[in-house]
Amino acid sequence: MGRDPRFDILFDPVKIGPVTTKNRFYQVPHCNGMGYRDPTAHATMRSIKAEGGWGVVCTEQVEIHPTGDIAPFIELRNWSDEDVPALARIADAIHSRDALAGLQLAHNGMNAPNLYSREIPFGPADLPVFSIYNDPVQARAMDKTDIRNLRHWHKSAALRSKKAGYDLTYVYAGKLFGGAMFFLSRRYNQRTDEYGGSLENRCRLLKELIEDTKDAVGDTMAVACRISVDELIGEEGLHAAEAQDIIGHLAEIPDLWDLTLSSWDNDSQTSRFADEGYQEPFVTGIKKLTSKPVVGVGRFTSPDTMVRMVRQGILDLIGAARPSIADPFLPKKIEEGRTDDIRECIGCNICVSGDHTTTPIRCTQNPSMGEEWRRGWHPEYIRPKQSDSKVLIVGAGPAGLEAAMMLGRRGYEVVLSEATRNLGGRLVGERALPGLSAWGRVVDYRVGQIQSMPNVQIYRESPLTSDDILAFGFEHVAIATGSRWRTDGVGRRLLRPIPLTGQDVLTPDDLMAGRRPKKDPVVIIDDDHYYMGGVLAELLVREGRKVVLVTPTAEVSSWMEMTMEQHRVQARLLELDVEIVPHRLPVQATGDEITLACVYTGRTFTRPIGSLVLVTARLPEKNLAEELEARRPEWGDTALKSVTRIGDALAPGTIAAAVWSGRRYAEELDAPERGLDELPFLREVAGLHSGALPWQARS
Ligand code: ADP
Ligand code: SF4
Repeated sequence: MGRDPRFDILFDPVKIGPVTTKNRFYQVPHCNGMGYRDPTAHATMRSIKAEGGWGVVCTEQVEIHPTGDIAPFIELRNWSDEDVPALARIADAIHSRDALAGLQLAHNGMNAPNLYSREIPFGPADLPVFSIYNDPVQARAMDKTDIRNLRHWHKSAALRSKKAGYDLTYVYAGKLFGGAMFFLSRRYNQRTDEYGGSLENRCRLLKELIEDTKDAVGDTMAVACRISVDELIGEEGLHAAEAQDIIGHLAEIPDLWDLTLSSWDNDSQTSRFADEGYQEPFVTGIKKLTSKPVVGVGRFTSPDTMVRMVRQGILDLIGAARPSIADPFLPKKIEEGRTDDIRECIGCNICVSGDHTTTPIRCTQNPSMGEEWRRGWHPEYIRPKQSDSKVLIVGAGPAGLEAAMMLGRRGYEVVLSEATRNLGGRLVGERALPGLSAWGRVVDYRVGQIQSMPNVQIYRESPLTSDDILAFGFEHVAIATGSRWRTDGVGRRLLRPIPLTGQDVLTPDDLMAGRRPKKDPVVIIDDDHYYMGGVLAELLVREGRKVVLVTPTAEVSSWMEMTMEQHRVQARLLELDVEIVPHRLPVQATGDEITLACVYTGRTFTRPIGSLVLVTARLPEKNLAEELEARRPEWGDTALKSVTRIGDALAPGTIAAAVWSGRRYAEELDAPERGLDELPFLREVAGLHSGALPWQARS
């Protein structure tokens, strides 16, 4: 099938300074938790983006000097020539698949606490660094020598990018990451010299850095400027009108404008809080200010939206980080007329959590993300079957669906058996909760793929027992039966059941099944700390209930710092008048009263309660697996060779973890047995330096 001619415009080449991209698909820089620690894994991940058809594939922000060290976050480094081989490996990998390679130079200025290098951070003013953990570090105001040095280091790093083979590089002034943005900012830049005050003065450093970079490498490399178009904090921050003045002032100096909202949480908003194309109001009109191409983002997964962005003269290049993570082959699929095969990003920001936890990037929709090199997983390809075994998968949640789809691609005969009428497992209920409808794409994509596979049969309303399974004659059985929320209050902090007398107690499973608390106030105990507690509070308040959310932490949904949503959840619950009770855990509930204890002092408090909702821990549904295991002596009379628990049935976790588990099962079926001492994946071990230190030379 050829591509739809409506989408032809997306495949126009675009000239960016001295280079030309073959199409308008532009993978903007994105963090990945691999950085300098995992260069080959990183190179392989980027090469797969290139293979998937992105015209430009960029690195994440790349540190240019120890004075701009972003530890504990792991990004690439371009500090000296020693870094060039790793950078070149990435550029070569991107080139091998016919894309332009972009490297985002970054000196993080006042965003860099320099925890690794212990250099004193610097920026426009003597102020605390702007860092996620409120590190007790202050930056010092740069003097003219510092500015000269920074320009020198930036230029040297640009030259090393060229040496490493890149086609495009950046001057970063966005998201309060790129140090030059602190100079643009009226609230950070309190200088009285020629680098502060007027807009022209505040732009001076950025202008110099772009000009230096063009002087150094602009003959062969394009020089992009990544800039924020709004901080969304009103007059105090950089706002749309001012951003337009800045871009207008520097209009023709860079070869490309890369537009972002600031800070990262605004740039990468989740589907719970923003729809596809949410940056459109902020980027509309920028193209009128410059003749240079403009790239912008907005979780674009719909080719129609992409075409509209280009046709309406809003963007020249369709920028994507998350859509390229969820589906590295998005451009290829549009090109080949296979838009139904696009694995659309669900906007959950699990990918961001990789960066925040300094672990390799992961993705709910694309379980191969981050595993391309170390486990050899590919987003589109999986090795063909190694036997004629028939596989039964019990349970059609995220784990079962992924396992069925990938085993189907391998060519196995697969039966997917689901107890209920609906496919999707936990997502059947969760996708109906406030703000989570886009998460249903995890189910829809997989069901859509499976439906066109003649070798995968789905049976709904088919709850299976161990008798059924032993009678069927499958060689391999995956138990993907999921989990259920606990009813006794045992969670993360509270490890013993809550004494309850005469309470109306519900769990998330009950609420998702349509049951509702009998009486107000509804007290939600959130000892889970991800989205469920906050989402259920929102659900109940929107239905007119009075809700109290109790958590042992200081903030609601505290793990959502990792997905950059915590502050939005907190704001939403406050706006909805949910009463938030922090630092408390339940001691007991009797009749109309619940006793809570302060997690610091142990002091207790009683308060009225109507009904109780426990969002605590989950229990794996493992009875079926255990029964089959107990009946192992009977397997000899059947074809059965293996029974494997996957997903939440093994250990309840994120949807991303369940999908990953399903993929792992499909990858490892019929794989050679791994020895106990063999590691499950490849890793890169740092080369060791040798040589004496000054203090070792003393006699
Ligand atoms: P995961 O996140 O690991 O995929 P889910 O809880 O989302 O797990 O999905 C588990 C699915 O398994 C649910 O749809 C549930 O109805 C189904 N299931 C549970 N037990 C059985 C069974 N014995 N036979 C068939 N399906 C089952
Ligand atoms: Fe999209 Fe979620 Fe994957 Fe990130 S983890 S790319 S937000 S689906």
